[in-house]
Amino acid sequence: MMRSSRVQPEENADGTMTAKIHDANSPHADIEEPDQNGLEESLHEIFGLAHLRPGQREVIESVLKGRDTLGVMPTGSGKSLCYQLPALNLPGTAIVVSPLISLMKDQAEKLEEIGVDAAQVNSTLNAEQELKALENIRSANSDVVFVTPERISDPDFIAELQAIPTNLFVIDEAHCISQWGHDFRPAYLGLGDAIKALGNPTVLALTATATPEVIEDIAQQLGRPSMHVVNMGIYRANLNYSVIQLTNPDEKLKKLQELIQKSEGNGIIYTATVKAVEELATALAGTNTGFALYHGRLSRKARAESQESFMEGKSRIMIATNAFGMGIDKPDIRFVVHFQMPGTLEAYYQESGRSGRDGKTAECTLLFDAQDKRIQQFFLARHHPDQEDLHEVYKAMQDLSADRPAIRFERLKEKISKFSVRRLQVILKLLEEGGVLRRDKALGYRLRKKDVKAEDLARLGEDAHRKAEHEREALERMVFYAHSGFCRWKVLLEYFNEEVEWNHCGHCDNCINPPENALSARPVQRWDKTEQMTSGSDKSRTKQEQELAVGAEVEVEKVGKGKVLSIHYDMVTVLFPDSQKRTFMKNYVRPLQQASENRGK
Ligand code: ADP
Ligand code: MG
Repeated sequence: MMRSSRVQPEENADGTMTAKIHDANSPHADIEEPDQNGLEESLHEIFGLAHLRPGQREVIESVLKGRDTLGVMPTGSGKSLCYQLPALNLPGTAIVVSPLISLMKDQAEKLEEIGVDAAQVNSTLNAEQELKALENIRSANSDVVFVTPERISDPDFIAELQAIPTNLFVIDEAHCISQWGHDFRPAYLGLGDAIKALGNPTVLALTATATPEVIEDIAQQLGRPSMHVVNMGIYRANLNYSVIQLTNPDEKLKKLQELIQKSEGNGIIYTATVKAVEELATALAGTNTGFALYHGRLSRKARAESQESFMEGKSRIMIATNAFGMGIDKPDIRFVVHFQMPGTLEAYYQESGRSGRDGKTAECTLLFDAQDKRIQQFFLARHHPDQEDLHEVYKAMQDLSADRPAIRFERLKEKISKFSVRRLQVILKLLEEGGVLRRDKALGYRLRKKDVKAEDLARLGEDAHRKAEHEREALERMVFYAHSGFCRWKVLLEYFNEEVEWNHCGHCDNCINPPENALSARPVQRWDKTEQMTSGSDKSRTKQEQELAVGAEVEVEKVGKGKVLSIHYDMVTVLFPDSQKRTFMKNYVRPLQQASENRGK
């Protein structure tokens, strides 16, 4: 089993903070203590930093002791330093897998600026640049080599890396490896095999968000079930969360414009679709708001320009899909508005958490229209691999294996061209996890079993099905957050399975302005899977619920009469004659007919 340890910052005599390490039983406890002087020296002299932050020290010392480590640390807490410092203090080269080319470029350039030799290998290099990078790597000159997950799965590239001493294998944004997480990248599935092929160097995985399932899965996927987990938790007191309930697109756009008018400083507006980015751009074109756009369908050049314009403060606002923002180091983002909700709370937390990296107050606002759930449901409807898909790839492997035992990915892709690269990667991983195939040191696929039965493949297909279920539940959880009358931070913390001693953060909308007495009348409004999954379906609707249709005249005790604007689970939003909108628990809202009946009794 994996160990999970919570860092308890301790103040030292000199005022610095150190994380407490409780590792007496560690199998590595007898390993020599890392050289503190060397560490401090590079921290001051190379990075120009005075102290390590809590968490950083624990991660860095763990890595220097040769322990596989997973650091779950909030955005802005300084995860990069956790690999940079060990990379410089260990002989050999550190390989850093980074999901985005722009991110990699940024990080490599920053290291070069302070005199650290960093090479990057990605698809944007021209032949000459790539040759130079490889040359550097081969001569083992580079302290740090940044690579994309695609490249590290390439047998030719692995062969290059096998020739040099690798001291550390780093996975930045490590949540991307998990299909239980929100930002899964199939290319990350190859990392476990790459680590093995490189002779099992020490592994350091870093991410800002990981639910317990994702933590477990990261360790599993990397083939490191006993990783030392340093979990700093997700709570950041400078982020103020709030949700604004809206019932139609016009209303939402108006609200957004209002928020932009009122806002100061830089901000990101996230949408769920490319279309919505473009629509917002059109809608805001006439206003005096300077904004940049970012989504996956823009050319690489346009995206780079947009990002630069926002990062350098030329555009105050970025309107983007989730294609934007991972790993960006912009300290002064003062607000993140979600114009449409994402599909999971992890995604929501990651995206909103890009604000306030400087530790100053930032506003995270979700504009919530229950209709938006459909957009996410549409994304969920994409097909997960089934038994037939698995069978098809298995057959292809059998055919190809007749000639030679080890099959390259490209060869398979050629043979079954109907699957996209992503899809084929997912299917192959399922077969690998099911023991049907394995990958050899040269990253070729080899059949392990010659007579796989239909029911075995069906079982593997079920696994994919469970993942689909999990995604649906995650979406319900996102919607629950939007409707909850509870402290927003508590809902987020509960999702990440974190305990805190308080019940109210004191700075989210529900804490500052508690919802109608009706809401708080229910002592604990906790996530209940069964309740949430069923109460949304039509079948289980009660009579009162049916009468409480959108548009129905209703009466709320002590508040008055109004019209139902929207209903979600046990929350009803009512419009009153003075144009006020308020949300109540269902049992406090009586359909007018029923109300007068009662009165007549
Ligand atoms: P993360 O990846 O966790 O979001 P980064 O590694 O990008 O964060 O670091 C965020 C910022 O914090 C960077 O500008 C970095 O220089 C700064 N930083 C990191 N560690 C320290 C430290 N110990 N003291 C002061 N600043 C630090
Ligand atoms: Mg980072």
